[in-house]
Amino acid sequence: MIHNFSAGPCILPQEVLKKASESVIELDGHGLSLIEMSHRSKPFVAIMEKARALVHELLGVPEGYTVLFLQGGATLGFYTAALNFMKSESGRAAYLDTGTWSSGAIKEAKLLGDVEVIASSKDANYNFIPKDYIVPSNADYLHFTSNNTIFGTQFKQFPKSPLSMLCDMSSDIFSKEINVADFDLIYAGAQKNMGPAGTTLYIANLEKLGKTGRKLPAMHNLAAQHEKESMYNTPPVFAVYVSMLTLQWLKDFGGVKAIQKRNEAKAALIYGEIDRNPLFKGTTAVEDRSNMNATFVLHNEVHKDAFDALWKGAGVSGIEGHRSVGGYRASMYNALPIESVQVLVDAMKELERKA
Ligand code: PMP
Repeated sequence: MIHNFSAGPCILPQEVLKKASESVIELDGHGLSLIEMSHRSKPFVAIMEKARALVHELLGVPEGYTVLFLQGGATLGFYTAALNFMKSESGRAAYLDTGTWSSGAIKEAKLLGDVEVIASSKDANYNFIPKDYIVPSNADYLHFTSNNTIFGTQFKQFPKSPLSMLCDMSSDIFSKEINVADFDLIYAGAQKNMGPAGTTLYIANLEKLGKTGRKLPAMHNLAAQHEKESMYNTPPVFAVYVSMLTLQWLKDFGGVKAIQKRNEAKAALIYGEIDRNPLFKGTTAVEDRSNMNATFVLHNEVHKDAFDALWKGAGVSGIEGHRSVGGYRASMYNALPIESVQVLVDAMKELERKA
């Protein structure tokens, strides 16, 4: 058995993979494969509607918000977010810089207006979440990244902002309860807690769209995408279907509240071992540790080969750290069972015994 700690694309529930693979041959007795039927067909329209309804239900999305399944990944979302919320004249936005992905968002927003980076942890290789900053009241919005997939930090409390808040939640959406009404835009690539790569979730406050004075290309225009119910063009049918199945799995699991409890238990297990085991240390500020991506290193690299052999031998996969941080990163997305974390912890204990 493989214990899949990959950072994304990542582990999905086995039953979702099974049902998804069956749909490629034939979707639910319809006589056609999911990927050879029209996206305007009744079965697919029902899938899209169900996917959107599940997002509403699981996150408690309030009235007046739209839920969209679009394309382009969160990377296109960096630009789409700015396009839909930054004023065309004297556009100005505030950004928190907490890692590679927020820097990416900043870069794209700079194409459209003035960007003020109001806090950054870049000088510390992004090993903490800045807390001392003042959100200006005269910008169009505040943007931040809720979980920093690469560096392993996570906002435990969201910023208090007088401005519209826009958030890239790619790597922790559906992992814990959130109050959607605090945000005017949430966006997230699917390939962590929601499904396969290929679709990107947007949750937007409809009242705040169309206020920038910009003429938007249709594919970037969230209001236009809302009007067409995520089908302005041919949607990524397979990615939407698998996302719907994963969201249904989450609902059957007990919803976001139940998965949050398990995610907290998984995080406590791994960080407990990182702190207890004298051979390892965490790479981030303790209070900002991500429940999704735990980053850690060996105190002494002489143990590297022995540790790598141990975890590989135990069936653990995907814990090599990102090249910009090194060491190890255990990504523990929703579908990862706590037993897999125990297997990794046991390998860490075994190294201590052998060292
Ligand atoms: N934001 C975050 C927080 C991410 O983790 C990633 C990808 N790992 C991205 C943005 C980029 O997403 P995509 O590859 O879907 O464009």
